[in-house]
Amino acid sequence: MAEFTLDLNDDQKQVRDWIHGFAADVIRPAAAEWDEREETPWPVIQEAAKVGIYSLDFYAQQYFDPTGLGIPMAMEELFWGDAGIALSIVGTGLAAVGVLANGTEEQIGTWIPQMYGDANDVKVAAFCSSEPDAGSDVAALRTRAVYDEAKDEWVLNGTKTWATNGGIASVHVVVACVDPSLGSKGHASFIVPPATPGLSQGQKFKKHGIRASHTAEVVLEDVRVPGSCLLGGKEKLDERLARARERAANGGGERVKNAAMATFEASRPAVGAMAVGTARAAYEVALDYAKTREQFGRPIIDNQGIAFQLADMRTQIDAARLLVWRASWMAVSGKPFTAAEGSMSKLYASEVAKKVTAQAVQILGGNGFTREYPVERMHRDAAIYTIFEGTSEIQRLVIARTLSGMPIR
Ligand SMILES: Cc1cc2nc3c(=O)[nH]c(=O)nc-3n(C[C@H](O)[C@H](O)[C@H](O)COP(=O)(O)OP(=O)(O)OC[C@H]3O[C@@H](n4cnc5c(N)ncnc54)[C@H](O)[C@@H]3O)c2cc1C
Repeated sequence: MAEFTLDLNDDQKQVRDWIHGFAADVIRPAAAEWDEREETPWPVIQEAAKVGIYSLDFYAQQYFDPTGLGIPMAMEELFWGDAGIALSIVGTGLAAVGVLANGTEEQIGTWIPQMYGDANDVKVAAFCSSEPDAGSDVAALRTRAVYDEAKDEWVLNGTKTWATNGGIASVHVVVACVDPSLGSKGHASFIVPPATPGLSQGQKFKKHGIRASHTAEVVLEDVRVPGSCLLGGKEKLDERLARARERAANGGGERVKNAAMATFEASRPAVGAMAVGTARAAYEVALDYAKTREQFGRPIIDNQGIAFQLADMRTQIDAARLLVWRASWMAVSGKPFTAAEGSMSKLYASEVAKKVTAQAVQILGGNGFTREYPVERMHRDAAIYTIFEGTSEIQRLVIARTLSGMPIR
């Protein structure tokens, strides 16, 4: 019988230390500058590409770690460095997962390398699902994809919003509706290749946090893509639509996961790990500060009021990491998520990150409120974790529905 252990093996420790070194030496020192500039940190992405952290190979290696801990470990360390820059480095991964989850081998081989470019000419990719009227309610998306059989082309029209790397990406992965009568079961994902006419960037958002990550609207006006850009291919789509129509005609039945939901599900524990990274970073700053800052003739950590907060912060961060690791291990071992453990990990870790970073600001007093100290930025950054990849409310809905089997609203 396999021994139970939470110890990382030597290879994992080596990778973790290597990523941590990059986060400490390259990401963290650049964090304040790119947060102020509110621009994509291309030079940092390029550095990451040079050392091999920004590449499909790197993610594939972590993804195929048989313990499942490769991705959460990498995310925690990168986001410990800085959330905005780290999202600029890993944002392409969301689009890549969209292709890995739904694409054919040929599509994976053709498009994923183009998403990353190479160290001399780095590229980024965007995953575009959300729309102005379809955020939590993904099924409401209106972007249409219509097949032009004569030309074997798909024609896409609609407006996407909140797209990480939207408009600056080489490759955009766009979720669109091919059969509006089927709701989310009528969705499909498409590759929009670099420089395709009709795709343009709408407004770029000025954000509260993760400001080094580019977030924008993407407008699609009569965007024509070859038939080969439908992820999974036409035959598979037609089969899937036929099954969905049959089920609809029979009054429902077995649930079918739509393309966007499959992508989000696979990425939730990874988002939890990002939140753990930000929380741990803020906790470490607060611990050091509490040990050195003196008031009333002694370090402020001498007060239980401060020390107990730090004890709670660390306890919650460790608990969050364990939930993330459990979900990641379950995913890689093919264990069914019977209690929505992936959503649980994202829900808990994201709420811990918000709470812990707020406590860190408080522990640093006036300094915590300034941009001279990183906890102010970490607190702003942490707010994203309870919003993207499904808000906390949506995670609770998913968990409650899974536990009860009831259609809770
Ligand atoms: C910085 C950033 C980056 C992002 N990157 C991407 C990306 O790369 N690609 C992409 O496709 N999307 C992306 N998103 C979109 C993100 O996933 C959505 O913002 C998120 O799903 C919430 O949708 P919404 O903003 O429309 O909020 P809404 O869905 O309008 O929700 C508003 C509030 O109502 C609550 N609510 C909604 N429905 C219910 C319900 N049934 N029960 C209880 N409460 C409910 C929500 O929890 C929330 O508190 C990004 C967003 C941000 C801010």
